[in-house]
Amino acid sequence: MTHPSRITQSSGPEKSPPKVNLRELPSVESAIAQLSKTSPLPQAIIANAVRSEVTRARETAQQSGTCAPRAEIIAAIETYLRRIELSRLQPVINATGVLIHTNLGRSPLGKRTTDFLASLAGQYTNLELDLTTGKRGKRGGYVETALAALCNADAATVTNNCAAAVMLILRHLVTPERNEVIISRGELVEIGGGFRVPEILECSGATLREVGTTNKTRASDYQNAITERTALILRVHRSNFFLGGFTDDPDDQELTAIAREHKLPLVCDLGSGSMMATDKLAPIEHEPMPSEILAGGADLVCFSGDKLLGGPQTGVIAGRTDLVAGIKKDPFFRAVRCDKLILATLQETVTAYLESTTKGTTPDVPVTTMLAMKLDDLKQRANALLVQIQTPLADAGISATLIDTTARTGGGTMPSSSMPSVAIALVGSAASLTPDQIITRLRESEAPLIAYIENDRVEINLRTVFPFQEQALIRTILSLT
Ligand SMILES: *Cc1c(COP(=O)(O)O)cnc(C)c1O
Repeated sequence: MTHPSRITQSSGPEKSPPKVNLRELPSVESAIAQLSKTSPLPQAIIANAVRSEVTRARETAQQSGTCAPRAEIIAAIETYLRRIELSRLQPVINATGVLIHTNLGRSPLGKRTTDFLASLAGQYTNLELDLTTGKRGKRGGYVETALAALCNADAATVTNNCAAAVMLILRHLVTPERNEVIISRGELVEIGGGFRVPEILECSGATLREVGTTNKTRASDYQNAITERTALILRVHRSNFFLGGFTDDPDDQELTAIAREHKLPLVCDLGSGSMMATDKLAPIEHEPMPSEILAGGADLVCFSGDKLLGGPQTGVIAGRTDLVAGIKKDPFFRAVRCDKLILATLQETVTAYLESTTKGTTPDVPVTTMLAMKLDDLKQRANALLVQIQTPLADAGISATLIDTTARTGGGTMPSSSMPSVAIALVGSAASLTPDQIITRLRESEAPLIAYIENDRVEINLRTVFPFQEQALIRTILSLT
């Protein structure tokens, strides 16, 4: 039998592994000890990083014949550890002007909600205990009642997110005999975060029955597509794009009449689903409200809890009692149910809306407050900020000015709507920092500030910055000097 190493050797002298000096390779123990002095990360994470980088460096050295200098290997581990450290979930200052930013965790919560959450999280709760009988109770009973009241719906329930809500609705309504879902070609959208309507439909076992064209779909297109295999009519809010030019959407009333005539459920995925008339809060479009869509004849609506509602990541389903009850019986519902912290968060958010309606006030929901903020107030805050940073920045070769700009709701809501905003614009002199360097420094600072570049200058959009973050904002900006 030939030893494997013989084969390698006999295939020619040029193939034999080169002799490498591995003395530069740090010992695992010394590297861990050294890096633990500078990195705040738990030692187990540091140790794993060291082991894998030292192994990688050894393999590279054996292949290439030269070993990277020790300092370079340590620096590579440091860079990696810094990245892990920054990836830890932490608060950031959103200076993008995008109110519902999926990368930034969508909606921040109101103070009432966070206070409640803080007190609840460390104690036992009545999650599944009926305090009136002392027996096992229904999870989410209160929030379902409150959501139904808020949406003016017969019934409501909650899932992990809106994607799960759509999936559950389809699973419930689609049967092997009736598996076709009629949807307009103009609504086969992909929403940020990889939610593709056609893929969700297929996942649920439904067959797509596309009608109309990208820009024009009429009620008659739906009418003509109905067969004995039709399970439901689905409408999806276009969310992150808008159609301009020659367009046609079916008239809601006509579509409702068609669905009724054929005894087919009409389901609307609203995406955001605002509880307030957005056009009354800001100079922007009117975002469809669940109560309006249900009053218009839809059998079910669903929407995300962390978009314009301003709550936690959830998917709300509201509408006909029998359909909601049926959906809750699906074993899949158990797999996408919400945790108690999420239910508590949603409960407080929804209650804030209900109470504000009674009192005639605006609810303590940050996204709505930001949406409704008057430009003059924003400018006043901006001016007060500018005086605190302008001189030190100028000394460091960075000019800071106030500019008029716009903010957007984002998060797949009202894609064509923007509202006036104000930004601090930063420009470094030739000897100072480039715009890219500035946004990187701001982003990697102790209170990470997320800004953007527009027309070669860095814009710090103030509509999405909370007043309580202003001191941190100033510190972060001044860290550039
Ligand atoms: C955002 C959105 C979704 C996905 O909601 P998630 O809560 O992120 O799962 C689905 N449909 C529409 C129309 C949306 O805008």
